Amino acid sequence: MARVLIIGAGGVGNVVIKKCAQNAEVFADILIASRRLISCEKIAAEIKSAARITTAQVDADDVPQTVALIREFKPDLVINVALPYQDLTIMDACLEAGVNYLDTANYEPRDVAKFEYSWQWAYQERFRKAGLMALLGCGFDPGVTNVFTAWMHKHRFDKVETLDIIDCNAGSHGKHFATNFNPEINIREITQNGRYWKNGAWIETQPLEIHQAIDYPQVGPKESYLLFHEELESLVKHFPDIKQARFWMTFGQQYITHLTVLQNVGMTRIDAIDFNGQKIIPLEFLKALLPEPGSLGANYTGKTCIGVQLKGEKDGEATTHFVYNVCDHAACWQEVQSQAVSYTTGVPAMIGAALMLTGQWKGAGVFNVEQLDPDPFMTMLNRWGLPWQELAGVELVP
Ligand code: NDP
Repeated sequence: MARVLIIGAGGVGNVVIKKCAQNAEVFADILIASRRLISCEKIAAEIKSAARITTAQVDADDVPQTVALIREFKPDLVINVALPYQDLTIMDACLEAGVNYLDTANYEPRDVAKFEYSWQWAYQERFRKAGLMALLGCGFDPGVTNVFTAWMHKHRFDKVETLDIIDCNAGSHGKHFATNFNPEINIREITQNGRYWKNGAWIETQPLEIHQAIDYPQVGPKESYLLFHEELESLVKHFPDIKQARFWMTFGQQYITHLTVLQNVGMTRIDAIDFNGQKIIPLEFLKALLPEPGSLGANYTGKTCIGVQLKGEKDGEATTHFVYNVCDHAACWQEVQSQAVSYTTGVPAMIGAALMLTGQWKGAGVFNVEQLDPDPFMTMLNRWGLPWQELAGVELVP
């Protein structure tokens, strides 16, 4: 029976909170805290659960304020589903107040569109010495994709040679242009150069330069674009046998056309410009105009399909396996008033938190998800709304 503080009451926060509340045997006492109290209250009002739910306002950029909230509530774990900008301040607060930590996206500085684990891996010794655990990137990708890789590595392969993570959203929200998770973070991710791992080095590409059609189970063929994604960095570190690691994501032509225009006119810039005597950052202004991810769910139709293909060897034979989940937007709305992108992120965060709180995943230091036993996580995915399937001997990505 644990106490958990969930910071961030946006699209993903809504799902994590409701899934924790469904699992009241583990999550008995939940405090929801966000920059605006109203975001927390709206979600809390929708929950009927045996768990005790309370709300609080916090600015998680402010370490002393966050420490004070943690000391007052005394949680066993802090789940960070605010923005990547808050990762380090929340980790600092957890160290100071002596509590375990979990997030779903790695730290990014506000002024450089660059995401990598170096900043958070640098906390390894401090968490280890404090006897605390920090679990990084426990959403879907990163998160479940790391678990799928670790599970196949453990049960299906003696040696892995290539890794391809494929992420398809074949849903339709009916808006001209919207992003499925925080618009600022999403646009920063997609407009930067692509990158993939080949024979011990990173190969850089122009944004969206490499693409091909991939035939997704239950969804069909979709044009998929090579991007850099953060789990590639941790997976090639923890599975050094992998010679090539790539990440592919689908985008519709309408999305790409809007994004190209926004880029061409300077609306995706992250440096401050002067406007009527005031400094504004164009991308922050654009975010204020776009729909919030949490608001897209009501009329969303279609499915997501996200999975991992590994190629390698088992018992001296060449083999290929693909493990994946298909998630339906409308079913997510029915269950927790969310679209599937927030749902597929929020459910794994609850599962990772439950495994930490029940002692099935434990350790002192900073961990990526693939460093822990994938088996209990795979079992819980089936139980908590993200059932997975497997294809053997079929090559989806050449
Ligand atoms: P939203 O923009 O919907 O939500 C972000 C929330 O963070 C908002 O509720 C906001 O508060 C809160 N917040 C922002 N700044 C602060 C602050 N300083 N202090 C406290 N709260 C703050 O984004 P999403 O829910 O879509 O994304 C949440 C996280 O999930 C992001 O880090 C994103 O990168 C990650 N993600 C991970 C994925 C994965 O598969 N691993 C996939 C999708 C997202 P308020 O509403 O109160 O103003």
